[in-house]
Amino acid sequence: MTPVSYFPHQNNEMYVEGIAIRDIAKQVQTPFYCYSSSAIEASYQDYQNAFSDQDALICYAVKANSNQAVLTTLAKLGSGADVVSMGEIHRAISAGIPANKIVYSGVAKTQDEITYALSLGIFQFNVESEPELELISKVATSLNTTAAVAFRINPDVCAQTHAKISTGKAENKFGIPISKARLAYKQAAALPGIKVQGVDVHIGSQLTSLAPFKEAYQRIAELVIELRADGHDISVVDVGGGLGITYLDEVIPSKQTYADMVKAQLAHLNCKIILEPGRSLLGNAGTLVSTVVFVKTGEERQFLMLDAGMNDLIRPSMYEAYHQIIAVNKGTKSLKTYDVVGPVCETGDTFAKARAVHESDAGDLIAIMSCGAYGAVMSSSYNTRMLAPEVMVKGEQFAVVRKRPSYEDIINQDVTPDWL
Ligand SMILES: *Cc1c(COP(=O)(O)O)cnc(C)c1O
Repeated sequence: MTPVSYFPHQNNEMYVEGIAIRDIAKQVQTPFYCYSSSAIEASYQDYQNAFSDQDALICYAVKANSNQAVLTTLAKLGSGADVVSMGEIHRAISAGIPANKIVYSGVAKTQDEITYALSLGIFQFNVESEPELELISKVATSLNTTAAVAFRINPDVCAQTHAKISTGKAENKFGIPISKARLAYKQAAALPGIKVQGVDVHIGSQLTSLAPFKEAYQRIAELVIELRADGHDISVVDVGGGLGITYLDEVIPSKQTYADMVKAQLAHLNCKIILEPGRSLLGNAGTLVSTVVFVKTGEERQFLMLDAGMNDLIRPSMYEAYHQIIAVNKGTKSLKTYDVVGPVCETGDTFAKARAVHESDAGDLIAIMSCGAYGAVMSSSYNTRMLAPEVMVKGEQFAVVRKRPSYEDIINQDVTPDWL
């Protein structure tokens, strides 16, 4: 799936599925996020088909895009959820994802969160440290139950991705070192509230090559064999997420190619395979639509100043991420070079430098592509800018699936003390 597969231009005008973006913009006002539900379904189906010959469960990584309409779309296809907070558990359950399809990751789960997850009966805790294991055991014992756990193993491989989204090197905060795994499982098996059931690994995000995955899964397979020899009943391997998407011209292995590699490394273990894709399900299913406020001619360059900013989409500022930027109406105009920036009072509020975009004027619509994952979920109201609404399209229908808040909504969250 390319950034524009579900956002094609017809007669120079950008569509999402069967609706012109311009028509949505008229009703919703910019900036807004726009998702194609067919794109989400197609990505999910690709994973499903690729693993149909395995006992596999897709646990969508909720943090990539936690909108209830997105979660409901995936729940209806049978998806489980990989969650990282109590809030995400609430979201998953409320979207109809059953507790027995939820795996719970995260490095600092609190006692309240663990209690809640245990009371629901989630499928598995992905445990990231020994102190966490002890806390889970304590809570489970007090609730007269046992927690099914996998340790998140840090296999010490380099994911060859951006440092901020690389998680599988020894220096990262995630998981327990593979060298200590056998000892950790031994300790886990001795605890009263714990049922050891699996092994988990997640080495990073936006991986464009299979090599790091393969290296990690090889190490995990060897570990499973050792753990079984130690007497542990390992029936689940959670392979994490991390498969990348095409933002510009990255050539990403297909989900089928990824699946073939996973099976080559792990199928012989006869374990249930858990997948935790986030970006690869949602990334190219969404765009951020904005309006050009001004075209400003600086001393050295031309700026396209948009009504969307870093508070709406932080990836370019935070990870130097590349997103295609496309005029919604290409008209008959030629390409021109712009710095594409937002309205926020920071130089970091820059989406692209020296980027070729069809010549645009104030009032024209601009689409920032590949924003379905880690877009809306990372947005804030910095500069007291309203969170951008989210729209979902299905064929020729669309719905606002998160409203733009009002200024009162925002201001009334603050409380002025009565002594002021
Ligand atoms: C973020 C995350 C994922 C999803 O990663 P993607 O790159 O979006 O596929 C999966 N598992 C865990 C534990 C994560 O933290």
